[in-house]
Amino acid sequence: MSVAPTAGNDLGVALGANRSSAVGSPRATLLAVRPLLEEQVQVWSSQALGFRWSELHDTTPVGGPPDQPCYCNAVLLVEGLKAPPGEAAALQLLDALQGLEQQFGRDRSLEQRWGPRSLDLDLLFWGEFRLEHPRLLLPHPRLHLRTFVLAPLLEAMQGSASR
Ligand code: ADP
Ligand code: MG
Repeated sequence: MSVAPTAGNDLGVALGANRSSAVGSPRATLLAVRPLLEEQVQVWSSQALGFRWSELHDTTPVGGPPDQPCYCNAVLLVEGLKAPPGEAAALQLLDALQGLEQQFGRDRSLEQRWGPRSLDLDLLFWGEFRLEHPRLLLPHPRLHLRTFVLAPLLEAMQGSASR
C-alpha cells in the first residue's frame, strides 16, 4: 500500500451530512460543497494549494439519537500551506466552515447533540498544531475513534492531488 508523503503543514477537513439541504440529498450536498470548500480554503490561505479528496462514503451513524438516517462522509486534505499554523488563522477557518454549514441549512440551535444535520464540517488537524480553545480543539479529539473519518482520510492520503 502506498501512501503519498504528506508535508508537516497539511490540513484535514471532515465533511458529513445526513439530512437533506436545499440542494437535495446528503450526497448532493457534499458534491455541491466540494468546490465551495476549496474556494473558501483558497481565500483563507491567499496562496496556491493542492487538494486531495476522498470518495463519498455512505456510513452508519455512530452515537447520537437512535434511528437517525445514514451519513454521507468525505475528507479533504489541503497541501502546500506555507504559513505556520496559529490560533487566529485556525479560528478564521472555523468561521468559514461554519458559514458554509449555515449556507447549507445548518441551525445548531434546533439540533440534538450528534443528531441529524444538513452539513457538518470539522477541522481534523493542521500539521502537528495543538489548540485547546473553547471553540476549537486541534487535533480533533475524536478523529482516531471514527472509522467514518479514518477510512476517507486514508483514501485522501492515497489519492492523487486534484490540483
Ligand atoms: P460534532 O462535529 O462533534 O458533531 P458540532 O458540529 O455540533 O459537533 O460542533 C460543536 C462545536 O464543536 C462547534 O460549535 C465548534 O466550535 C466545536 N469544535 C471544537 N473543535 C472543533 C473542530 N476541530 N472542528 C470543528 N468544530 C470544533
Ligand atoms: Mg462539527
